Amino acid sequence: MSQKKIIIAIDGFSSTGKSTVAKQLAKQLGYIYVDSGAMYRAITYFAMTNGFIDENGFDVDGLISKLEDIHVSFKFNKDLGFAEVYLNGINVEKEIRTLEVSNFVSKVSAIPEVRKQLVKQQHQLGLQKGIVMDGRDIGTVVFPDAELKLFMTASAETRALRRYDELKAKGDDVSFEDVLNNVQERDHLDSTRKDSPLYKAEDAIEIDNSNLSLDEQFDKILKLVTMTLED
Ligand code: C5P
Repeated sequence: MSQKKIIIAIDGFSSTGKSTVAKQLAKQLGYIYVDSGAMYRAITYFAMTNGFIDENGFDVDGLISKLEDIHVSFKFNKDLGFAEVYLNGINVEKEIRTLEVSNFVSKVSAIPEVRKQLVKQQHQLGLQKGIVMDGRDIGTVVFPDAELKLFMTASAETRALRRYDELKAKGDDVSFEDVLNNVQERDHLDSTRKDSPLYKAEDAIEIDNSNLSLDEQFDKILKLVTMTLED
């Protein structure tokens, strides 16, 4: 494939398979993959384990006052074939994927100070191009000039079932209703927040994968990448 390096921005609703396709693309192209949602999840996990989120509520100002002590980074894991997320030097890849973290992450990601810190870091990760980043505001805010923007959708039930199967396979004791509620609640909060809400960039290409197999989806997206690289 071409030597030209581009930025691929993948946005969309929760559990639309963004990270699966982003990882496949990064591997195929030899690009860096950045899971921006993992960064918001890591800060949420920090808030939960440092007493800023508990049964009494959410101490937003307390969390903001600690932001400069929170360092989120990625380290490539050769065996897994992608970069895992670290919080202050500790691998938290597993801890950030629980339903508890999912239930709070949209509240944490709505805080402008949190977004400012992470978007700055995301910009730096993209300076050399050759990157696939997935999230909610990648094509609209983080990389508005990305050469290729995708917007992934699928029905809420399809998405909740995928997430439910994933959590069950990891041994998490969750109900389908709780997962569906979480997916719908996050879609709502992410799309209606004031700072960087989730919406499809005008120049993004929408991929509805409700009825696409992983292979069909990948083929379709790889064609778009090839066309963009030949442009
Ligand atoms: O992608 P994932 O579902 O792991 O993202 C978790 C949450 O992080 C989202 O529901 C959203 O609240 C937040 N997020 C965001 N902006 C991004 C990526 C994720 O607000 N670019």
